[in-house]
Amino acid sequence: MTTLPPFNVHRAGSVEEATELLGRLGDDAVVYCGGTELLLVYRFGFADYPDLVDIKPIPELRGIAAENGELRIGATVTHREIELSPIVQEHFPALVEMERHVGNVRVRNVGTIGGNLCFADPHSDPTTFLIAAGGEVSMRRGGADARRMPVEELLRGPFETALEPGELLTAVHLPRVRPGTALVHRKMSFHERPAITVAAHVAVRDRAVSEVRLAVGSVGVSPVRVHAAEGLLAGLDAAQPDPAVLAAVGEAAAEAAEPVADANGSVEYKQQLVRVLSARCLREAATEALAA
Ligand SMILES: Cc1cc2nc3c(=O)[nH]c(=O)nc-3n(C[C@H](O)[C@H](O)[C@H](O)COP(=O)(O)OP(=O)(O)OC[C@H]3O[C@@H](n4cnc5c(N)ncnc54)[C@H](O)[C@@H]3O)c2cc1C
Repeated sequence: MTTLPPFNVHRAGSVEEATELLGRLGDDAVVYCGGTELLLVYRFGFADYPDLVDIKPIPELRGIAAENGELRIGATVTHREIELSPIVQEHFPALVEMERHVGNVRVRNVGTIGGNLCFADPHSDPTTFLIAAGGEVSMRRGGADARRMPVEELLRGPFETALEPGELLTAVHLPRVRPGTALVHRKMSFHERPAITVAAHVAVRDRAVSEVRLAVGSVGVSPVRVHAAEGLLAGLDAAQPDPAVLAAVGEAAAEAAEPVADANGSVEYKQQLVRVLSARCLREAATEALAA
């Protein structure tokens, strides 16, 4: 690791100002939020943009609010602010539980939800969680209308997003939690970042599974939603889910996740982790949904 190269920090007070700065400074500039990823990239010598556009002062990107039937979290809200927010605790307690296990407290104190999504590191807790939660993001460039899309559409691949030049992620949106639903997020880490993340959203009606969203991340190049799980699980007894069906879903998840071999393990090992953790998450979510 090297020392940081010199750079200028330009503070933007609005989305318009950030877009103007990014346009004027061109290829020399990059958006800077908490800096937990960006400054690491600098330290490793993978980037040396001389101009950082700091978006933390922008009021539009701040705040947590339950409004219009959803939970809105500004892009520059830190992991720690989410973890400690009474609004999130009241409206989406599973999100608090997930955030509590992101990195360590130093990372959570400065790292932001928007920075996590925009960096699009394959090893991410929030991306997997938000896909299972049915989360969406909004983005805006100065002088243009806001766009909104599901989280899985934002993520185009490793370290690649659907953001256009000069565009900022402004907020994350989560649908309100309905009675008879639960979301369970589980992870395993052998190093700093997660080696596997699995999240299962289950809705129950008349004691049977009526809706499922299963997401698997951190094992392949991008998190995936396991669409095959949805059909397989519909109508299943939520109290005693058939182990053969859960095994079939685990198999579908292991295939959909397309694990890659790396320092966390071989493809076969990761496939087995996906099978076991997917079945476990779904069982737990079904049990919780019955009581919710
Ligand atoms: C030791 C360590 C452990 C970690 N462990 C975990 C973990 O367990 N789970 C996990 O999920 N993550 C983990 N992380 C990653 C951490 O969650 C992210 O580093 C953090 O959330 C990134 O946010 P940031 O504000 O620091 O991003 P920055 O470093 O400021 O920015 C990251 C990237 O996003 C762009 N960007 C930032 N905000 C916006 C925006 N609003 N609009 C457009 N572009 C933007 C920047 O240009 C940059 O390319 C870990 C990181 C470290 C260093």
